[in-house]
Amino acid sequence: MPVFLYNTMSRSLETFQPMQGNEVGLYSCGPTVYNYAHIGNLRTFLFEDLLKRTLQVSGFTVNHVMNITDVGHLTGDGDEGEDKIEKMANQTHKTVWEIAQFYTDAFFNDYDALNLIRPKVVCKATDHIQQMIDLIKRLEDGGHTYVSGGNVYFSIDSIPDYGKLARLDLSSLQTAVREDVQADDNKKNSKDFVLWFTKSKHGEQAMMWDSPWGRGFPGWHIECSAMSMYYLGESFDIHCGGIDAIPVHHTNEIAQSEAATGKEWVKYWMHGEFLLDETGKMSKSKGEFLTLSLLKSKGFDPMDYRYFCLGGHYRSQLKFSFEALETAKTARSNVYDRIRRMLAAGAKNTSLDGEKALEYKNAFLEHIQHDLNSPRALADLWGVLKDDTLSIDEKYSLAMFFDQVFGLGLQTIEKPEEESFPEEALALLQKRVEAKKEKNWALADSLRSELDAMGFMVKDSPAGSSLEKKM
Ligand code: AMP
Ligand code: ZN
Repeated sequence: MPVFLYNTMSRSLETFQPMQGNEVGLYSCGPTVYNYAHIGNLRTFLFEDLLKRTLQVSGFTVNHVMNITDVGHLTGDGDEGEDKIEKMANQTHKTVWEIAQFYTDAFFNDYDALNLIRPKVVCKATDHIQQMIDLIKRLEDGGHTYVSGGNVYFSIDSIPDYGKLARLDLSSLQTAVREDVQADDNKKNSKDFVLWFTKSKHGEQAMMWDSPWGRGFPGWHIECSAMSMYYLGESFDIHCGGIDAIPVHHTNEIAQSEAATGKEWVKYWMHGEFLLDETGKMSKSKGEFLTLSLLKSKGFDPMDYRYFCLGGHYRSQLKFSFEALETAKTARSNVYDRIRRMLAAGAKNTSLDGEKALEYKNAFLEHIQHDLNSPRALADLWGVLKDDTLSIDEKYSLAMFFDQVFGLGLQTIEKPEEESFPEEALALLQKRVEAKKEKNWALADSLRSELDAMGFMVKDSPAGSSLEKKM
């Protein structure tokens, strides 16, 4: 079955076809490690995980590369402000290296807690300064750069198609030139961007390297171009990130990468929409912000948040509220309970060849392969769980298959040690045993109905009567 993905570049759904056989080169912009990730950031990483899992279940091998931005990401997108990590280090009297390491570790704690499959390569910007310098030299040789005020800039007028991803109207940008000049009057065009800084607004900073243009540090955009090409080649299949990266970060990544190589850089561009809070866009600059740890401290499991995100399509905005998370938690717990009960009843993961089971499997694949329609795929899971024409083995096996994509940790659920029943149910069972002894069949029947309404089946056997939870 083909996989259809929405390509931001063409603004349309396309049939996914990797450049080489079944191997997929996937690059995703990683975190800037100056603070904890907020749950909005995590939504984007969840979308990328869903993409990766969908491709894997569809038979592709995914070579996933993700960077860690530990230098060069300024507080403003237009090369203004100061390095986010330097700023945090100064505020907290820590070294930049301590800040970067601390928040990288915190990020991967969240990553693992959310059951995100780790990328094949995680690359730190500070470990790839040479690759960035080499790429800037290549751009310089091609006549795409200029030095002004000590910094090296990329000239967007040196290429014919700047802004094609965001479909920027360059004529209207010229107005912005004048307004922006104050921000950095070294720029010939306001949309030119820095490849290498030797002068930052705040002068010297801790992270600096020697370069042909002087001691300094790289711009944020060149990091992703240099590292993705280093690990995935000069052209690769998919590049993804959050929707906010389209107008500046990804636009500039494309400009410099294609200017350097002269060929199309990335075949499919995919972007996750934003998670919104009650005030609108989620942002770390608002002071206290929503983190996975905060959700945990309020009694939620990371899988509740994962389930919540799966309930929205990645290209739609999703509004976060604790009520909505509560609903996801109830549903997720319900799925877990059902799986536990199946295991208690001896369910096994078997091959799916029954007609009805195959129908469910195919419907699920069709939905998830249609631009990662996770809400429809979740509905498929519920269809399976509630369909009593399927055997327990079929239900369980389908749930395990679906979970390769959902990543809700259903495979890790263990068979319950021993069925435990509430005191009240056990007392009713005992009463029924006595009613039967006294041949009071009417009472025995009404007790059976009462237990049934509570969700328990009474099993009578020569060895006596026992309870079983209903599926
Ligand atoms: P950062 O660590 O700031 O570089 O951001 C990491 C990722 O989170 C980027 O891909 C952003 O596009 C994405 N992102 C930022 N804010 C949100 C949000 N509110 N919802 C979803 N993704 C976001
Ligand atoms: Zn990037």
